[in-house]
Amino acid sequence: MIEALGIGHLFELSRTEAIAGFFTPLAVFAVFLLAQLILPARRVPGYVIDPETGRPREYRLNGILVFALALAVWASGITGLPHDWFYRSTIPAVIGGTAFSAVFTVLAVCGRPKAKTGSLAADLWHGRALEIALFNGRFDVKMYLYVVGGTMFALNALSGAAYHYERFGADSNPGVFLYAAFFTFYVLDYFVFERVQLYTYDLIHEKLGFMLIWGGLVVYGWLFILPLWGMAAHPDPGFPPVWTNAWLIGTGALFLFGWSISRGANLQKYTFKRWPDRKFLGLIEPDCIEAGERRILCSGLWGAARHFNYLGEGFLALSIALVFGYPGNPWAWTYFVFIVSLFLWRQRADERYCAEKYGPRKWAEYRARVKYRIFPGVY
Ligand code: NDP
Repeated sequence: MIEALGIGHLFELSRTEAIAGFFTPLAVFAVFLLAQLILPARRVPGYVIDPETGRPREYRLNGILVFALALAVWASGITGLPHDWFYRSTIPAVIGGTAFSAVFTVLAVCGRPKAKTGSLAADLWHGRALEIALFNGRFDVKMYLYVVGGTMFALNALSGAAYHYERFGADSNPGVFLYAAFFTFYVLDYFVFERVQLYTYDLIHEKLGFMLIWGGLVVYGWLFILPLWGMAAHPDPGFPPVWTNAWLIGTGALFLFGWSISRGANLQKYTFKRWPDRKFLGLIEPDCIEAGERRILCSGLWGAARHFNYLGEGFLALSIALVFGYPGNPWAWTYFVFIVSLFLWRQRADERYCAEKYGPRKWAEYRARVKYRIFPGVY
């Protein structure tokens, strides 16, 4: 079965290696916790209001430093771990990471006030607390999840590329290296704009239950490289040079196109929330619908579709499906299928929250003005 799926190479660890793989996430979680606490950070006010003070919550942001340090440690090999370790140990690591996430969930949920409608099972899944800060406010659990998840995502992608190179050498697939480069860039960009993340769905709406904790640590950190499980085991597809160039340049352009839409929309919303009257990039006038003290942005990228940022993620995911040069292999499509499903669900969930926050009448006015959900002219 495993061989038929084309992932037999991920099941070749010795017993000792498998045990080490199981505990790798725990070691990673501990090291990242220390790094986030020790490394300098900038303190910024966030978007979410602290119910105790009535003022914006404060965050210590140092994701970019943690990311740079982790990358340098991995690249130098100073820990003695082989470069392909994270990739080769991915199966026991996912099992171990899931088990530790379950323990963290129990700690994050139990002892906190019950959610209004939830059973214990629902509370464990969705969480009870919107925020948890530790060490006298020095450490924000949600931001920690994304620092670990994002950094491990990039390291797992790079580790998969290292495995691929060791296995195929001169016959390596350049698409695998481009894939690793895409996601290293993607995560770097995330940390460069870490403050913008304070204005996004997870920070505003999600509670700290298994879905967010496991999703942030294990799904984002380890499982997002699912396409590599299958694709790292295939050599260069062997296209003629002119096709190779067209394929690599084409997927690179598609990736950048998707990224520009997504980053552009997120930055426009962030600019609008912080400086409501400022033109985005000095060009796009903020046009909005007033809903009491709130304002719904409906110009620029937010006038094209109500969640145009998700379309950018969709194009980016399509570039991932195509980057390996094996479009007929289902592994290549796993990230795309996940992203499309996630965002189709999330767009609807976010609109339900927004209709509550902005009021059904104002939200209906916005829907009439910006007709499409994600893809202008299509959906
Ligand atoms: P958004 O950044 O769109 O955040 C949603 C919130 O933004 C809403 O709850 C609302 O909050 C505010 N908002 C929505 N529409 C408007 C509007 N027209 N005017 C004013 N405020 C509005 O969504 P996400 O957090 O889901 O996504 C952020 C980025 O992260 C996206 O690019 C997304 O694609 C990416 N992402 C990527 C993932 C991946 O796996 N690759 C996973 C998750 C996210 P309020 O009104 O309270 O401000």
